[in-house]
Amino acid sequence: MQSLKNNLWNSSFSHIYIEKKAKDYLNTKEILSKFKDAIKIEIDHYKDVFSRGHQSFVLQKNSPKLILAVKEDNLVYKGAEVCEDFGNQHFYYTSSIMNCIYNCEYCYLQGMYSSANVVVFVNIEDIFNEIEKLLEKHPVYLSISYETDLLAFEGLTSYTSKWMEFASKHSDLKLELRTKSANFNAISHIKPLNNVILAWTISPDKVIVQYEKGTPSLDNRLKSVRSAMDKGWKVRLCFDPLLYIKEWRKHYSKCIDKTFDVVPVEQIHDISIGVFRVSKDYLKRIKKERTNSMLLAYPFECKNGVCSYTKEHTEQMINFVYNKVNKYVTKEKIYI
Ligand code: SF4
Repeated sequence: MQSLKNNLWNSSFSHIYIEKKAKDYLNTKEILSKFKDAIKIEIDHYKDVFSRGHQSFVLQKNSPKLILAVKEDNLVYKGAEVCEDFGNQHFYYTSSIMNCIYNCEYCYLQGMYSSANVVVFVNIEDIFNEIEKLLEKHPVYLSISYETDLLAFEGLTSYTSKWMEFASKHSDLKLELRTKSANFNAISHIKPLNNVILAWTISPDKVIVQYEKGTPSLDNRLKSVRSAMDKGWKVRLCFDPLLYIKEWRKHYSKCIDKTFDVVPVEQIHDISIGVFRVSKDYLKRIKKERTNSMLLAYPFECKNGVCSYTKEHTEQMINFVYNKVNKYVTKEKIYI
């Protein structure tokens, strides 16, 4: 598994762009030590590479480059309306890495960024400082894996472990780490923390193979879920985003049964269910990038700037999945 991952990074990150001001950070040095053969190019600002015009997100996905940068502003964001806050009042998210090693057809990042290159902000400690300032005012619920899949990058950055260490010192901080990876082993040495939720996106095999390119199979995700639970971690299962695909009832039914065959129900922290949704602007850009996508050819309905399936299809899918999940898990643990 480890060598497979290394090969993936090596073939992906043939070129590494390094901001001048990022050069001396310890995180930069550690990351660069893993890419002895990569071509290294010094740059003034990550946006000179990341935000330049005439890039194709989809083409760049075939061979993304790595950019090491210093994040100077917007270290922490207020949680977006479209995201479930699980009843937490002070909901924020942060982005220590931009972009992802996976290639989901529906990923909103391709509407958000003009580049598929991966930016790692090497000054994660500045984000920690910003969170500490917030914690002086109130408790914080923080999602740390929004614009990437942080756990999938663990072998490269160790950022998940760094976040865990930070969380262990701040009981008023609640972290959510969302992932599709099967990389729990990378953090299995860490003692489970009461204020951290590991959240796995659970998808039918059909969806994984067809629309979540590069992501681990359902079996492998569930193995990671199981290992995390056995170690005592709080685990959230996310049947989100539900995709309106041919024979969706059959695929989601099979997926839910398989999940609860493997996962001990009493150890589930909670479950979230949601259909695919994306901002109107991002959808427009994603469709331009993915002109052949059947998934995105759906006649989405847009309300208040957010696009999703029709009310009828949304209700059908949510009700179906909710009822099926509710056969295994009590309704108090299910968030829609
Ligand atoms: S795992 Fe998430 S962030 Fe990564 S490509 Fe898929 S949808 Fe995007």
